[in-house]
Amino acid sequence: MPGFELFGSAERKEVNDVLESGVLMRYGFDGMRNGHWKAKQLEAELQSTFKTEYVQLVSSGTAAVSVALAASGIGAGDEVIMPSFTFVASFEAILMVGAIPVLVDIDDTLALDPKAVKNAITSKTKAIMVVQMCGSMGDMDALQKISSEHDLILIEDACQAIGATYKGKALGTIGHLGCFSFDFVKTITSGEGGAVITNNKDYYVNADHYSDHGHDHEGNDRGAEGHPFLGYNFRISELHAAVGLAQVRRLPDFLAIQKKNYTVLRNALSELPEVTFRTVPDGGEESYAFLNFFLPDLETARIASKNLKEGGVDGCFHYFDNNWHYVRKWDHLKNVKSLFPISKEIKDGLTYLETKTFDQSDHFIGRNISCLIKLSWTEEEVLQRAQKMVEIIKSSI
Ligand SMILES: *Cc1c(COP(=O)(O)O)cnc(C)c1O
Repeated sequence: MPGFELFGSAERKEVNDVLESGVLMRYGFDGMRNGHWKAKQLEAELQSTFKTEYVQLVSSGTAAVSVALAASGIGAGDEVIMPSFTFVASFEAILMVGAIPVLVDIDDTLALDPKAVKNAITSKTKAIMVVQMCGSMGDMDALQKISSEHDLILIEDACQAIGATYKGKALGTIGHLGCFSFDFVKTITSGEGGAVITNNKDYYVNADHYSDHGHDHEGNDRGAEGHPFLGYNFRISELHAAVGLAQVRRLPDFLAIQKKNYTVLRNALSELPEVTFRTVPDGGEESYAFLNFFLPDLETARIASKNLKEGGVDGCFHYFDNNWHYVRKWDHLKNVKSLFPISKEIKDGLTYLETKTFDQSDHFIGRNISCLIKLSWTEEEVLQRAQKMVEIIKSSI
């Protein structure tokens, strides 16, 4: 998945444009910047690549999720439904706006189980946050239906699945708002960075202003701009945007390499009757950033994971035990370990986590192994890796 593996002359050229003028900020300084507007250009490029009306770049994927929530008016006391399997940014962003993360089970797509979402809806629910994990997606038709029937905002975190599609639409463009991350290990990177995408003009204008202290970006005297509402600073720098601009143009190449490498590994593992694969909803096409498969039970997955590691097959994760992406490891959330006092609403809102179990998620994450697909592997390396994985998994069963 990581675009950093192929960092090269295209990225250097874009960065050099910025270094030559010295204008590292995305707004203002029109006369000094020699016509270079990397953030604006990257927004335009993302807009056309993903066929979305509006794009707002921000400083990270976590910022993108936070800004998406703020831009759609979600805040104190509101409940946001999110999955038990995701990156910690999901609940960080929800807590940042004063809302309550309501964790629910995933299904064999490794994303939100629509039934679990339905069961979790209360009078306080304002949004559903679907996280498109490991290069694939949840059942978007079912989730959209629930969102429209209950008048809930659907936020789509596509940080790990940029370039994947559902029924011909890019992930990130299906919900009311979508989020991308360009951190250093994502499919395309800008070093640090992220984007909020939407077809809703109000959400876009809110995101534009909110991510820059509430500036209305009218006229060309930044100091004299109006501030229609409170904001924050989630700006991306021109240097970061420059790297992102070079990388987004390479996305089709990256996706093609991922698909090729993924296919070799998947075909090899398909020969093992004990191995099954995560469900990709009808009409979905993965970004092929990861290969996810299930083993028959938790014990087998534990043994296979250990053997893969010891056998030198790097980049395979057993999230149940070893990683920060699953609810089992989120003690700091369950115990509300905050540096500063947290509102009573949030504290009370999180008490359910003391007792809630996630049996269905355990059933899938316990048996799942998720392997990163690299861009820099040679054909020979992929073939060898496939063979090694098959041998190790066979001997683990
Ligand atoms: C990486 C990631 C984020 C956060 O992105 P950063 O740019 O690292 O802040 C959010 N959600 C998911 C699913 C991610 O994988």
